[in-house]
Amino acid sequence: MDLPVASVLRPETLDRALELLHADPPPVPVSGGTDLVVQLRAGRRSAPVLLDLSRLPLDGIREEGGVVAVGATATMDAIAASPLVREAAPALAEAAGRVGAWPIQCRATLGGNLANASPAADTAPPLIAAGAELLLASAWGRRTVPVESFFTGPGRTVLEPGELILEVRVPHLSRTPGDGAVDRFTKLGPRREQIISVVSLALRSGITASGALEGCRIAVGSVAATPVRARNAEAVLEGRTPSEAVRREAARALQRDIAPIDDVRAPARYRRIAAAVMLDRLLGEVAGG
Ligand SMILES: Cc1cc2nc3c(=O)[nH]c(=O)nc-3n(C[C@H](O)[C@H](O)[C@H](O)COP(=O)(O)OP(=O)(O)OC[C@H]3O[C@@H](n4cnc5c(N)ncnc54)[C@H](O)[C@@H]3O)c2cc1C
Repeated sequence: MDLPVASVLRPETLDRALELLHADPPPVPVSGGTDLVVQLRAGRRSAPVLLDLSRLPLDGIREEGGVVAVGATATMDAIAASPLVREAAPALAEAAGRVGAWPIQCRATLGGNLANASPAADTAPPLIAAGAELLLASAWGRRTVPVESFFTGPGRTVLEPGELILEVRVPHLSRTPGDGAVDRFTKLGPRREQIISVVSLALRSGITASGALEGCRIAVGSVAATPVRARNAEAVLEGRTPSEAVRREAARALQRDIAPIDDVRAPARYRRIAAAVMLDRLLGEVAGG
């Protein structure tokens, strides 16, 4: 079936892309197209004019002063395979490697996953847990936004008309000598590949020499209108070793962080139980070394 699109603009520089986005009505950005094309075909969105981002130099992954800067058009495949991401943000690499299956990963981009703003976007929890920021640009200038405050509802973000995601800046997992650190992502679905998460969960934390969690950050996907930070669970865990009793307390606190709904993929009650079990298991693995 042909796409209901009249034309596709293919700028080769960022300045030109931002200028084109100024048009009224503005063209709709397309990166890998794995979300947008599905939505256009299903008639859930209309986009008479598309702005193809694939020729812009936004697919790099580089190290910059304690952060890994991942370009918006970097594919999931490139992110999962990047030695830099695997070292500095292993949970992001794991999440990228769990998006769809490999053919999807070769097209799907980080910017597209975030801008699409699904509550189930797999890269969102590891980025929120890592305290990552987005660099946004429009013809009027640039600004940074924490990933944690980027989403405003299903399919909605703080992106203004004419604004693009340029890159995502992910702080390095810090490993101080003598102390440890953990950065993990886990996802639940009825099978391993090609599945939208029923629940996803990411945990980043330092671990002191005595085994206590320090600077613990947890984020959960598919359990609310947006991916959420689990501040109540974090507060229970901070400064404590994740013993069985502490893990139970954290799993209970997590219930106050999430607000799942019933939908075609799972009932809310199942999601609540699954999130608690996933957190408990992850913490159990951390406690077990
Ligand atoms: C079979 C299949 C399986 C999938 N499995 C998963 C999965 O397991 N987990 C998961 O999270 N997702 C999954 N997805 C969804 C999709 O693949 C991802 O969300 C993907 O990362 C979207 O990236 P894209 O480059 O294809 O985005 P596109 O479809 O090109 O764009 C998506 C949205 O983002 C906007 N956009 C794109 N880039 C930018 C930018 N730089 N700045 C501003 N706006 C931008 C577009 O205008 C559009 O609204 C799956 C999709 C399919 C078809």
